[in-house]
Amino acid sequence: MQRVMELIRLENICKTYHVGEIDVPALRGVTLSIRKGEMVALMGASGSGKTTLMNILGCLDHPTDGSYWFDGQEMSRLTPNERALIRSEKLGFVFQNFNLLPRTTALSNVLMPLDYAVQRPAAKESQEWARSLLDRVGLADRVGHEPSQMSGGQQQRVAIGRSLVNQPQLVLADEPTGNLDSHTSVEILRMFQRLNTEGITVILVTHDANVAKFANRVIFLQDGEVVSDRQTSEAAEVRAGATADPPEPTPAPHAQFSFSSGAAWQSASSAATATSVRVHPPAVRSAAAPEPAPAAVERVKPRGSALRIPSTMRTAVGALRRNKMRSALTTFGIIIGIAAVIAVVEFSQGSTKYIQSSMSSMGVNTLMIRSGAATSAGVNFGHGSMITLTPQDAEAIARQCPAVACAAPIVQARTQIIYKNRNWSPFFIYGTTPSYLQVRDWKLTEGSMFTDRDVRSSSQVCIIGDTLVRELFENRSPLGKTIRMNNVPFRVLGVLSHKGANMVGMDMDDVVIAPWSAIKNRVVGSSVSNVNQSAATAATSATSGAVNTLNKRYPDAIALYPEISTTQAANNPQPIRFANVDVILASAVSPRMTPQAIQQITRLLHERHHIRDDEPDDFNVRDMTEMTNMFSQASRMMGLLLLIVAMVSLVVGGVGIMNIMLVSVTERTREIGLRMAVGARSHHILRQFLVEAVILCLFGGTIGILLGRTLSTLLRIFLRCPVETSWPAIIAAVGVSMTVGIIFGFYPAWKASRLDPIEALRYE
Ligand code: ADP
Ligand code: MG
Repeated sequence: MQRVMELIRLENICKTYHVGEIDVPALRGVTLSIRKGEMVALMGASGSGKTTLMNILGCLDHPTDGSYWFDGQEMSRLTPNERALIRSEKLGFVFQNFNLLPRTTALSNVLMPLDYAVQRPAAKESQEWARSLLDRVGLADRVGHEPSQMSGGQQQRVAIGRSLVNQPQLVLADEPTGNLDSHTSVEILRMFQRLNTEGITVILVTHDANVAKFANRVIFLQDGEVVSDRQTSEAAEVRAGATADPPEPTPAPHAQFSFSSGAAWQSASSAATATSVRVHPPAVRSAAAPEPAPAAVERVKPRGSALRIPSTMRTAVGALRRNKMRSALTTFGIIIGIAAVIAVVEFSQGSTKYIQSSMSSMGVNTLMIRSGAATSAGVNFGHGSMITLTPQDAEAIARQCPAVACAAPIVQARTQIIYKNRNWSPFFIYGTTPSYLQVRDWKLTEGSMFTDRDVRSSSQVCIIGDTLVRELFENRSPLGKTIRMNNVPFRVLGVLSHKGANMVGMDMDDVVIAPWSAIKNRVVGSSVSNVNQSAATAATSATSGAVNTLNKRYPDAIALYPEISTTQAANNPQPIRFANVDVILASAVSPRMTPQAIQQITRLLHERHHIRDDEPDDFNVRDMTEMTNMFSQASRMMGLLLLIVAMVSLVVGGVGIMNIMLVSVTERTREIGLRMAVGARSHHILRQFLVEAVILCLFGGTIGILLGRTLSTLLRIFLRCPVETSWPAIIAAVGVSMTVGIIFGFYPAWKASRLDPIEALRYE
């Protein structure tokens, strides 16, 4: 039975502090036992080890030697977190200097330990519970006041309310009245008595005999040893009364709190203030002892930890708001960093896109297939001097090479163009097929492109570039007008969109495009490219052996005229105009596919031209490797530059965050100690500071994104820079700022979580 009643048992508890080389024994073998429901005063001169003992009793510290049973459980070997859990569930602390959270309302102060409770009630219920506690300590009208707006006595009452919020079995008070005047002291001590009558075990640490009188057992400590342990006579009386209550201190957890309403408290304390400290405490107590209050608060129903994160967030935001200026300045690094990154990314994306489009207009994925160099008697005539490529090759390439998007044969000419009384020699006169526009990624601004049928029938139609419109037509619409090329009339069907100069400064708009058959047969005639007729004939025996008819060039096209028979052909000899082309332009499906396209074209042409592996090619394929490389190198450089900017700014920002978090941890050491004393485990502290750092960073990141977007918008509006909104960059910025918060916030948070609660509480 005695064992059951026992709440605390100390056996030979020793505590030795090591200060440098010296050992300071603070406790030397304390053995005592405290039963449930006792009100004990620990007395002794300053330096006798009272606080040390109380810290051990309160599971804030562990003894160097000896055993400590609390509620039947051995405590001295528990890990810091296990001790925190005990503090959270079973203990309440009241400190000499109140230790309230500054700039935090009384209500929030009382609620604070609930953040670390294993089972915490829902927000609304905990609020009600905390209010009722404040009501009981007589502060119903100070719920929203901050510590700086309250007197010492009121602050200590808030602290008592806080010590009760987790419904502890034991309340430990270290010199709770040390900072209070005697009137207030009496009120506070009465409050402890009241708690005691309701079944809470109270241990008061004091050096003041008057204070000790309020207890019913006084333990004297001297130089770390118990020198006397006696029940006061009145106390004995009270205890007898207390033990007379049959189901004494194993009450249902909540019945403990059936103490009186605030009003009863106040009348009790006002009665007390009239009397001096010497007034017999038990007498006053019995006079003021109220019957169990009808307004007793039901035990709040515990809930899971679902509300933890919001409460951590709230705490973090609160902490940051207490230092608005500092928080804002801290995030400045992140703001600038993220803003710079966003602005640069948007700008560079805009310009990359711009460059990309201009590059593709120059034909990054264009392949140029030229006929090979003819060699005659050791003299090389250079590329293109062999006549081997045919429009059929172009068609086959487009049809049979998967990596090729489209292909167009090109016949070049150079002649003067006349319209009415004006004349002009365009830089490019191309005879080609309608595919040319796709290969070059070129659009028409007016009119339409000629068709395959025009090609088959050598129609005298053309489309012209910007420059010609200007030079020949004085910028009036040329549609339907007829120009003369080498004295052959061509009707203008359309106008090409503006392209500007190419990489080597040639005006790309100085161009006339017509069906290759028309250019070949009517403009160029056989005079230009048939120089090496014999070579061509040899290479394309299939073509040269047949009677020349263009219908054969397009095997799958609808024949316009019935095919002539061999007899007819023999009877109507026509000049053989071998249809070779100068160049075949092909475009790869994408710039990356260019190598495959080259491979496929080479294989196909080998087949078509009957070239064996050991024979030299009669053609060559060139791509814009140089251009592509330059382009990709430029974008790589841009990316690298960005990365460096981002890294530098984010590291700078992160270091700023880390710095201020370290300051914050140091500055709030006492707060951390307090939170740990009321039950916060190390992960709670770690999380709180991490959340703070992440909130700072996310806040900075958000402002940074807004600023960056504003900057890029300004760039676009005022400098007409090409700018492209980049969602990936924005998402990455959020992610990065969070990561920075976690990385740079981790060390300070970890440092905070590793603090020793007593040292943190003692920190000045
Ligand atoms: P009390 O609370 O009775 O005034 P303490 O328990 O605070 O006494 O201190 C008991 C003894 O232990 C004192 O001699 C004090 O100097 C020593 N002491 C207390 N805390 C520490 C500490 N953290 N480091 C070293 N010595 C300490
Ligand atoms: Mg002390």
